[in-house]
Amino acid sequence: MKKCILELHNIGMKYQSLNGEIPALENINMCVDEGEFVSIVGPSGCGKSTLLSIISGLLTPTSGSVYIEGELVKGPSKKIGYMLQKDHLFEWRTIMQNVLLGLEIQRRVTPEAKEYAVHLLKTYGLYDFRDKYPSQLSGGMRQRAALIRTLVTNPQILLLDEAFSALDYQTRLAVTDDIYAIIKKENKTAIMVTHDIAESISMADRVIVLTRRPGTIKSCHIIKMNLKNRTPLSSREVPEFQTYFRQIWKELEIHV
Ligand code: ADP
Ligand code: MG
Repeated sequence: MKKCILELHNIGMKYQSLNGEIPALENINMCVDEGEFVSIVGPSGCGKSTLLSIISGLLTPTSGSVYIEGELVKGPSKKIGYMLQKDHLFEWRTIMQNVLLGLEIQRRVTPEAKEYAVHLLKTYGLYDFRDKYPSQLSGGMRQRAALIRTLVTNPQILLLDEAFSALDYQTRLAVTDDIYAIIKKENKTAIMVTHDIAESISMADRVIVLTRRPGTIKSCHIIKMNLKNRTPLSSREVPEFQTYFRQIWKELEIHV
């Protein structure tokens, strides 16, 4: 039986601004299973990043609660790894030093943790680049390094916020395949937000569509592809892909 690892109960968020209250999210309820890949799509400004910040514990919602493995989230949790649009690698640190950064912040640079970092770098083709600086790597390799830095702290849930949108189209296709394979191999639960419908369908087990701001859940699509070894690239090739795309496009009020 599937185990629910993350639960959102009635999440609502209102920002206070000089011009009054800005309602960003309303009445978000959701349950994510262990190992599931959920993507959340919605028009720009509908509250996607806000939702991830709330899940990460960095932002406290105005109403509702977040539970990870049944435990109420009250602040940043070690069970969560957060990946942003920009890779946020430090240019003056080598790849190895960048990868160890999260552990340093958590004061957990143990020999075992270092060994795990080396293992990840070797497995995902960056070991030979460990002493290079980020500027010496391609955009795709940088993104992989950023993911490894997130994985090193061994989070159970990965949050990806438009993680690929800074890359050019071709690179993005290759990198999503790459990152998807790593997430599956490391057996992580992932929640990705994006405004890119194709990207969301190509990676997810489930796509959740949000309305315009204040973001509420508009619909939910279970993505099933008739593929033996599903990858984001191969998902784009099957006929179901277009069907999902058309449905979600209609719901994503970007054309009105
Ligand atoms: P998305 O990621 O879907 O583009 P965001 O979650 O970044 O949307 O923002 C949702 C809405 O909340 C937007 O209208 C944005 O302007 C507003 N907002 C985001 N952060 C703040 C903040 N710190 N203060 C006031 N308003 C904010
Ligand atoms: Mg955003």
